Amino acid sequence: MKQIKQKVVVFTGAGISAESGIRTFRDSDGLWEEYNIRDVATPEAWAKNRELVLEFYNKRRKQSLEAKPNPAHKALKDLEKKYDVIIITQNIDDLHERAGSKKVLHLHGEINKCRSTVDETLIYPMKKEGIKLGDKCERGSQLRPHIVWFGEMVPMMDLAYEVASTADIFIVVGTSLVVYPAAGIINYVSANIPKYLIDPNEINVSGIKNLTIIKEKAGIGLPKLVENLLK
Ligand code: NAD
Repeated sequence: MKQIKQKVVVFTGAGISAESGIRTFRDSDGLWEEYNIRDVATPEAWAKNRELVLEFYNKRRKQSLEAKPNPAHKALKDLEKKYDVIIITQNIDDLHERAGSKKVLHLHGEINKCRSTVDETLIYPMKKEGIKLGDKCERGSQLRPHIVWFGEMVPMMDLAYEVASTADIFIVVGTSLVVYPAAGIINYVSANIPKYLIDPNEINVSGIKNLTIIKEKAGIGLPKLVENLLK
């Protein structure tokens, strides 16, 4: 008889890609790679200066293409040997996919895709040169990055809550847990299951039961945890 694998749900943030050379949001003091986040990652920014927004995301995409998965991304792939692993990521890079992880849910969008500004279901792979002003969708509207900006609804949130609520083991890696609604996901996880949080810095998590805090960088802490879970 085929054995049903336990489900591990992993919630990742910018910190898991830090050792791949992609700077986090928090570590840059709300300035993400020298830009004020309000000037580039909000609907207001798009209304005010489309060129600047496109420049910012075209640079993020170039940087993400140059980066490589690190031991933390690879450890999550290894975890699939024994578990049904579902990654819920706040990251827009594709380093989980490039490490080989099969089930990845991007809460805040994907840097390698673009979409229509009049119909959010019209999503396209990004062209090599990125998006330019004047690039249009099949309905004739300007293309925008396939990114959930600050202040926009997070369409995948309900699915993410559902996935989190069915976890047998829950792991949080490299997120400051300050960007909502994503950060609220931990409240949907069953109180009784084992939970792990990996981050080199202090994270404000109070009242979470069965939580083990591993105060290390993802590239060190996650391979060690995965090794233990695979035993
Ligand atoms: P955040 O920047 O708010 O927090 C990053 C967390 O990672 C911090 O708690 C920090 O202590 C921790 N960290 C730093 N180095 C680490 C390491 N080596 N190992 C483990 N943890 C480490 O990030 P967030 O909580 O993901 O929220 C920021 C928002 O900005 C997200 O919505 C995300 O979409 C976006 N963002 C994405 C990327 C990316 O795609 N790689 C990068 C920056 C920001």
